[in-house]
Amino acid sequence: MQYSKLFTKTKKKTPKDELTKNAQLLIRAGFVNKLMAGVYSYLPLGLRVLRKIENIIREEMNNIGGQEVFLPALQPAENWKQTRGWNNIDVLFKIKSRTKKDYALGLSHEEVITPLVKEYVNSYKDLPVFVYQIQEKYRDELRAKSGVLRGKEFGMKDLYSFHLNQKDFEIFYEQAKKAYLKVFQRCGLTAKVTEASGGSFSEKISYEFMVLTDAGEDDILYCNSCEYCINLDIAKFKKGAGCPRCKKGRLNLARASEVGNVFDLGQKYTKDFEFYILDDKGKKVYPIMGCYGIGTTRLVGVIVEKYNDEKGIIWPKSVAPFGVHLINLDGVNGKKIYDALEKEGIEVLWDDREEVNAGEKFSDADLIGIPVRLVVSKKSGSKIEWKERSKAKTELLDLNELINRLRIYASL
Ligand code: ATP
Ligand code: MG
Repeated sequence: MQYSKLFTKTKKKTPKDELTKNAQLLIRAGFVNKLMAGVYSYLPLGLRVLRKIENIIREEMNNIGGQEVFLPALQPAENWKQTRGWNNIDVLFKIKSRTKKDYALGLSHEEVITPLVKEYVNSYKDLPVFVYQIQEKYRDELRAKSGVLRGKEFGMKDLYSFHLNQKDFEIFYEQAKKAYLKVFQRCGLTAKVTEASGGSFSEKISYEFMVLTDAGEDDILYCNSCEYCINLDIAKFKKGAGCPRCKKGRLNLARASEVGNVFDLGQKYTKDFEFYILDDKGKKVYPIMGCYGIGTTRLVGVIVEKYNDEKGIIWPKSVAPFGVHLINLDGVNGKKIYDALEKEGIEVLWDDREEVNAGEKFSDADLIGIPVRLVVSKKSGSKIEWKERSKAKTELLDLNELINRLRIYASL
């Protein structure tokens, strides 16, 4: 893509009303734009990052048997009354139509997916079922001040699983947890599997996937010796206590952001919607349900919180909007290099702006944070200058060396 054609521009000033790094950098670099508190537009650069994250998630959900759907955000009040969410969930957005009908804006999709799956699943032979979607959710959040980490409208991947019995559910639950860790790792993040309360409907524990960051809104206790991790909200322990699991380590306190979670919903929703099947002995069974969420737009923000310096964002290459940021200076034309790289299937943001000086081009490249910067100039002669965003070193390569280097770099 040619930078001169990109309709967005970087901003020099940090937005005054944004307190978090993620919002400050994403807005300044032109990835997102704030419409109002907790509601952001995704601009061409930001959408490319979001789509890459979504595709990583999609691949990992497909790998564990997930089937993708796309469910309505506008939902009938009746379904929410059936689960008692209508009167009990304070963040539910409610809408009245001109014909005085009540609707909800989906904050989650159990109320849609349960009656939907019920329509197609008649026998125990039809189970298990794993369905997911990647879609916007709406929540009337009060504390929308963490940038894209907490939105009133935000992106989520939500998967729902339906099982004949608890044992079958547990097997899939473990697979889903592993797939989640893979998703976060592919996005450049280390997530801690954290025990938490099961929410309003369940006494069971759930698992949250927490990434350590001061911008997060959760406090967690984690063992310095084993994998044990628990949300402070529910924890019976205090900072510095001995680890209840390995008995060797101590519990450290840290701030974290929840990038995903998995819940054992039991039969709550299948009973609410009278969704039962007959098992192989002809006995009536309400399927066991699990739900599995990942905050897609929150992930964009958490990645920025983890990967930045005083100059801007430093995207992990798996989610970077482009693979390379090509700059031409001194009237040297970058088109030949641009075309050659595009031909190789490399995603290039080419800063072809003529009226902009070198300093500005470099500071924009640092702010936008594409992992590799290439410069062609009088100084580089027939070669191309290579610099990684996270490193200070520069090197001169010819076109063949460059293409080989990029192939190796992409596969690392
Ligand atoms: P939180 O504890 O942060 O309020 P939650 O426990 O309500 O989140 P879920 O309803 O299970 O979360 O949603 C699944 C995922 O969606 C969360 O793990 C989080 O990553 C993301 N998420 C939840 N609420 C928001 C929000 N308001 N803005 C952005 N992402 C969110
Ligand atoms: Mg939570």
